[in-house]
Amino acid sequence: MKLWQKVILGMIFGLITGYFIKQQELLGNTFIISLGILDKLQIVGSMYTSMLKMIVIPIIFFSILYGITSVEDISSFGRLGSRALILYTISTVFAVCLGIGFGILFEPGVGVHLPSLIGESVKKIEHQTLTNIIVNIIPSNPVQAMANGNTLQVVVFAFFFGVSLVMIGEKGYVARNTISSCAHAVFKMVELVIKITPYGVFAIMSHIVSEYGFKVIFSLGKFVLIVLVAMLVQYIAFWVMFLFFRIDPRPFFRKIIPTQALAFATSSSKATLSTALSEMQKKMGVSKKVSSFVLPLGASTNMSATAIYLGITTVFFSQISGVDLNYSQYGVIIFASTIGSIGAAGFPGGGIVMIGMVLSSVNLPLDGIPLIMGVDRILDMVRTTINITGDCAITLIVDKIEGSLDYKKYNEKIL
Ligand code: ASP
Repeated sequence: MKLWQKVILGMIFGLITGYFIKQQELLGNTFIISLGILDKLQIVGSMYTSMLKMIVIPIIFFSILYGITSVEDISSFGRLGSRALILYTISTVFAVCLGIGFGILFEPGVGVHLPSLIGESVKKIEHQTLTNIIVNIIPSNPVQAMANGNTLQVVVFAFFFGVSLVMIGEKGYVARNTISSCAHAVFKMVELVIKITPYGVFAIMSHIVSEYGFKVIFSLGKFVLIVLVAMLVQYIAFWVMFLFFRIDPRPFFRKIIPTQALAFATSSSKATLSTALSEMQKKMGVSKKVSSFVLPLGASTNMSATAIYLGITTVFFSQISGVDLNYSQYGVIIFASTIGSIGAAGFPGGGIVMIGMVLSSVNLPLDGIPLIMGVDRILDMVRTTINITGDCAITLIVDKIEGSLDYKKYNEKIL
């Protein structure tokens, strides 16, 4: 069986198992309860997630360094970086505007009464400020940035280090060879981890469904539906982007399935990055030079679905608070949501942490945040899937523009 088929099967079996066992436990089936299957599955799931997290920082650090140092002259690298950043920015700003537009058009917050909906799901969220995010992009201590898993800071440091290595020319060759060896070793580690993905996805899904159930989705039906439809539009926009750049989208959208399934199950772009990287290089024919740099950059900074979510949610909160926003306030929301999605950490709930910052930028009250906490985990799964799809799509497009895409491999039927 092919990897994507195994991953999807793992997901379906996980859903069924989690649902069935939870039902039996609720019905008081003592035999099932005594087996403690869900707890054991949770342990397997978190071991697998830890394994994915274990390789995140090495992947980001070495693959960005490898990407930069495999470029011969620094000017061609500047071109690569600026192409990637332009496409990432266009996609993010489009996503925020889409989110705001959907919020205005479909009015998810009209008729929602705040006090009756704030339930037990109240949790503490650590809020970020706009200045905080911008200032924190530069790590004052790169080792600490790695230890804390701050990927954006690691990207900045790796970038700086890589560019300096290229600039010193011959003197940097020893280090460049070492980096190339380390990067290949890390790619190998990823391959090994990918083999057990279907089992990891099975364990994670069974735990999620037992914990959150399906019911939670209906509690804020209209809001959830509008967010999902907006994300679907973003997904279609990726298709259109492919057509615009004259690339057949079908092989991409077929071969991205295992990566999407993993993103969906883990709700973490960071945890999915290594799989995405390996799948793009091995099955889509994307060059190592481009993917090693553009994809980790995207996984840390480009989150189109998170941008949509920040836009819609802000409009939603303005509606439930009865505040009318003006044009300049929408401008502020676009700016703040763009920065928020760049600064959002690619782990579960990374996006919701930024909502406070966007709301404060237009002086909206933060009291409504607990309202969406209950549905956030489910939406996060879809968000992450779209986020990683966007990163991979833009990486492939940049590779095509650079002329390094291997069309034969891209069009190959194997998955
Ligand atoms: N979980 C998302 C991601 O990793 C971020 C978010 O919460 O929006 O891409």
